Amino acid sequence: MTPDLFAHEPQGGEGPGAAAPPAERAAWLREQLQRYDYHYYVLDAPLVPDAEYDRLFRELQALEHAHPELQTPDSPTQRVGGGLLDELPKVRHRVPMLSIQTETDTTPAGAFAFDARIRKRLGLGPDDPPVEYAAELKFDGLAISLRYEEGVLVRAVTRGNGEEGEDVTANVRTIRQIPLRLQGVVPPVLEARGEIYMRRDDFERLNQRRREAGEPTFINPRNTAAGAVRQLDPKVTAARPLSFFAYGIGEVQGWRGEPSTHSALLDALAHFGLPVSHERAVVRGGDGLAEFHARIAAKRDQLPFDIDGVVYKVNSLALQRQLGFRNREPVWAVAHKYPAQEQMTLLRDIEVQVGRTGKLTPVAKLAPVFVGGVTVTNATLHNQDEIRRKDVRIGDTVIVRRAGDVIPEVVSVVLERRPPEVAASEPWDLYARLQGRCPVCGSDIVREEGEVDWRCTGGLFCAAQRKQALLHFAQRRAMDIEGLGEKLVDQLVDGGLVRTLPDLYKLGVAKLAQLERMADKSAQNLVQALEKSKRTTLSRFLFGLGIRHVGEATAKDLARHFGRLDRIMDASVEELLEVPEVGPVVAQSIRTFFDQPHNREVVEQLRAAGITWEEGEAGRGHEAQPLAGLTFVLTGTLPALTREEAKAMIEAAGGKVAGSVSKKTSYVVAGEEAGSKLTKAQELGVPVLDEAGLRALLNQGA
Ligand code: NAD
Repeated sequence: MTPDLFAHEPQGGEGPGAAAPPAERAAWLREQLQRYDYHYYVLDAPLVPDAEYDRLFRELQALEHAHPELQTPDSPTQRVGGGLLDELPKVRHRVPMLSIQTETDTTPAGAFAFDARIRKRLGLGPDDPPVEYAAELKFDGLAISLRYEEGVLVRAVTRGNGEEGEDVTANVRTIRQIPLRLQGVVPPVLEARGEIYMRRDDFERLNQRRREAGEPTFINPRNTAAGAVRQLDPKVTAARPLSFFAYGIGEVQGWRGEPSTHSALLDALAHFGLPVSHERAVVRGGDGLAEFHARIAAKRDQLPFDIDGVVYKVNSLALQRQLGFRNREPVWAVAHKYPAQEQMTLLRDIEVQVGRTGKLTPVAKLAPVFVGGVTVTNATLHNQDEIRRKDVRIGDTVIVRRAGDVIPEVVSVVLERRPPEVAASEPWDLYARLQGRCPVCGSDIVREEGEVDWRCTGGLFCAAQRKQALLHFAQRRAMDIEGLGEKLVDQLVDGGLVRTLPDLYKLGVAKLAQLERMADKSAQNLVQALEKSKRTTLSRFLFGLGIRHVGEATAKDLARHFGRLDRIMDASVEELLEVPEVGPVVAQSIRTFFDQPHNREVVEQLRAAGITWEEGEAGRGHEAQPLAGLTFVLTGTLPALTREEAKAMIEAAGGKVAGSVSKKTSYVVAGEEAGSKLTKAQELGVPVLDEAGLRALLNQGA
């Protein structure tokens, strides 16, 4: 992309300032909000976070309040929701679908203010009993009206502009949680109203899949759910995991025994088989509301879906009717908000963090921002592709989302706030920024084909990967160091006792016993386990190094094929490819791993620490190198072969020929007039072969 594509005038910004004439400011606010409405309600792709929208909305409300002559009939403050998609058929609501008045004071004061308003309107004095309220969650999704006739779902309509909505029946039928037929004795006509939403885990999974497929991710569950419902093709809706909660009714005909309270109404809807949230309560007075607000706030992060507040409704339906509507909002209800889960802030820098498995994650360094109830200064950018797709650059204003236990993330850029110098800058690039080196250990970074993540290749040395490297090395299928589990690894690394794997073998009982909760006995046991682990096999050792893509089976294949570690460490990609089951990705990964000088050092230090195996232990029976790892001593005169010929044959088959017999000798090959070497072999119990025996051994792999 050429920089001048972005060298446009920022259209948004703050507009005419507070000092501007009110009419000018109001016009700008209206225009801005209308544009935001269109993107939010019609396109399901908001330009700014709700908190920013709400801020401008309140400002316009205040202006219109102070200067009523500025109010226009088309002002966003005078309307419900937004536009309609032309492509979907329109349906007029028999009972309008209204908005809810919002209480943005997120403290308990917001609850008391509502209660005070209600009491005033009902003409209640201080001595009158508290008002009863139904308190429930404010689900963050898309409002829907479900019309059931004789218990059968006949139509599903979005809220639209409140008077008219879009017919999305075919799409809604694909949502499993919405019954196509109600159960029990139901009124002949019943419009159930509620919210279609997406669970947070469903949303995360959906985005994870898209990220891996290189597709753009969705911003938040709310817009994803809304977008999924407002599709022309029901198959698209069906492929998106949607859920539903009922929270009220629209038109009803012939309901015998119609409930007299809102809470009883929800019970009835639940009886009909509609999903109704259990997180609701009937409470009394402002205290009851404030308590509910606080209780839900405490568990907001643990809820499986997003809420942006709670809703209070006067419980008595008779009182609701008495209170009525004002400004297209019911007087008897209020939405009491929680801190927003999305906010705008400045992206100051992008750092790259190295995870415990070597994965590199770009992390946004943000101007501190209060989002989802906490102050956030870091947010994940996931990976290079995501940064490129969202075109995130340092100096941008970004939208940060923090919802539930999910790590805060940068979900989009507010392009209209991009300063010209940022627009003129190059897109951010991870490799360029790091100059190809791990920011922690300086090893090469690589990105395999088809992978979205860059990785550090210094697995054995990189401080970020220490704990993981130790745990992997110690596990039963690798070096089998009994007792070296997660807790102990944490202690050893955090306490500075172990930095790289070889440090393990320098641990003494005295040093270990200093650790908290480490009894002498356990320290002794660990030292013994470490000692025991020193005698291992090549394949276990290889597996224990934690080379990417080298699992247990591949480690065995490699050990069998090459027989010796130095051969593997020095093998070219082509040589590695000769190993059955080893493909280009694995071969390259092994090559890159051993190309890192630090990794090689660690391997050497481990061997120097006394880790041994019988080289070629897995070499027997392999066609290419049947004698890999075996050591032979030749003595006497063989019937057909000269000593040189025998030596060449052994070496060609991967074996070694040594001059003297020791415990490490695998075989002594003895001919006529064998001397002291044969006696020594017999003393040490080393197997003795004649020429035929040697040939048999050589032929084993053929
Ligand atoms: P609202 O926040 O005014 O609340 C009304 C809606 O709440 C209902 O239509 C219903 O769908 C929902 N709801 C959830 N739980 C409910 C319950 N238990 N009982 C009753 N209703 C319940 O909704 P709105 O009018 O659709 O939207 C206004 C909000 O949308 C604003 O606060 C603003 O933040 C946001 N918005 C954002 C942008 C943007 O650009 N970011 C643009 C327009 C609107």
